[in-house]
Amino acid sequence: MFKGLGERLDEIFKSLKGKGRLTEEDVNQAMREVKMALLEADVNFKVVKEFVAQVKERAVGQDVLASLSPAQQVIKIVKDELTELLGGTQAKINMAAKPPTIIMLVGLQGAGKTTTAGKLAKLLSKQGRRPLLVAADIYRPAAIKQLQVLGEQLQIPVFSLGQENPVKIAQAAVDQAGSTGKDVVIIDTAGRLHINEELMGELAEIKTAVKPHEILLVVDAMTGQEAVNVADTFNRKLGLDGIIMTKLDGDARGGAALSVRKVTGTPIKFAGMGEKLDALEPFHPDRMADRILGMGDVLTLIEKAQANFDAEQAAKLNKKIRQADFNLEDFLEQLQQVKKLGPLEQILGMIPGMNKLTKQLKDQQLDGKELAQVEAIIYSMTPWERQHPEKIDGSRKKRIARGSGTRVQDVNQLLKQFEQTRKMMKQLSNMTKGGKKSKIKL
Ligand code: GDP
Repeated sequence: MFKGLGERLDEIFKSLKGKGRLTEEDVNQAMREVKMALLEADVNFKVVKEFVAQVKERAVGQDVLASLSPAQQVIKIVKDELTELLGGTQAKINMAAKPPTIIMLVGLQGAGKTTTAGKLAKLLSKQGRRPLLVAADIYRPAAIKQLQVLGEQLQIPVFSLGQENPVKIAQAAVDQAGSTGKDVVIIDTAGRLHINEELMGELAEIKTAVKPHEILLVVDAMTGQEAVNVADTFNRKLGLDGIIMTKLDGDARGGAALSVRKVTGTPIKFAGMGEKLDALEPFHPDRMADRILGMGDVLTLIEKAQANFDAEQAAKLNKKIRQADFNLEDFLEQLQQVKKLGPLEQILGMIPGMNKLTKQLKDQQLDGKELAQVEAIIYSMTPWERQHPEKIDGSRKKRIARGSGTRVQDVNQLLKQFEQTRKMMKQLSNMTKGGKKSKIKL
């Protein structure tokens, strides 16, 4: 997701960084390239035009921070504007003052609605809620069964009345939630291959009958601008409270995610990042902008770590990342833990500066073997070397390479990437500390 865009922006900024002072023409040139990059990422044309105009106005105008170089200022403005484009601040689910909160999931077939219902139930139950899943997709063969299987896996109850009228199902489910102490009702409604009157009519009826607190549209990021059109239509016909964009883990260029808020006025509330049931993330515009710009997403990483590691370990990682006090021993320990967090590529993408490494790994078709090589290299180091990677000299490198069955250049590459990551962490932690210290060298 966003890979191509991230790489393009990185290139553009690199050429800006090479210049000491920026002229208006430099900014214009860079913005022309940013415009192309966004269009190639399939961002809506009008959105791109406005975005570029906004960045230009701010870059040429008065938005100047004394502590940043001109190139850094442009990058900061682009980051701010990307964040704005993605919705500004995080949009959360409106929880009802008096439970149960009724959430209606709508969307076209194949968007990932049923899977998302399960993921959302899991996420909410982890937050201490007691969800009830409702099988109201009576048309797609196997949708009911699919939800029941998910419910069993998650140990979350699923309400079903078979092929009964969906309005009745929804109403009966809400009644049952009330009488059994469930505080969130998640209704998996029927989809269609395309939007049609029948579908909209049925959804409108359910809406009138149960008065949901949230109508969330599930759309597939891989469908690009079509996802934006779908969102626009659903919003006009039904009124949406939020969007869940699925399959952002795939090769989607990101255009849908970057356009949908601006075009429909409806915020993205969650992002689907994989097929597994824990692959649903609350959508944070600022963190997503960071990921696009290769600045990582340390906060999400920490949250994932907190959900998966024991508390002590998570606190340790948190502190180390914040203090940029991270050596190869921690790296090795984390590598073992990281395997639990999700696909390696996704996790690495959340670590500042790791975007490039991720690309290299992908180019080399990283698999378990490559990871084993990294581990072998670190295992071949002495504890002192792991704690002081910068002091590993030529003869040590030779010994490490021999010990791990790798080449000196493999050892070099690992050390170089590790050093870059550490530097990036230091810059970020300085930046978040703010104030005069925020002098970053890019
Ligand atoms: P529905 O017809 O909208 O209910 O769609 P399903 O829930 O059956 O999902 C359709 C397919 O998309 C399934 O194979 C899901 O595993 C897959 N899917 C759903 N969400 C995601 C996601 O975030 N990432 C990926 N890679 N696949 C997803």
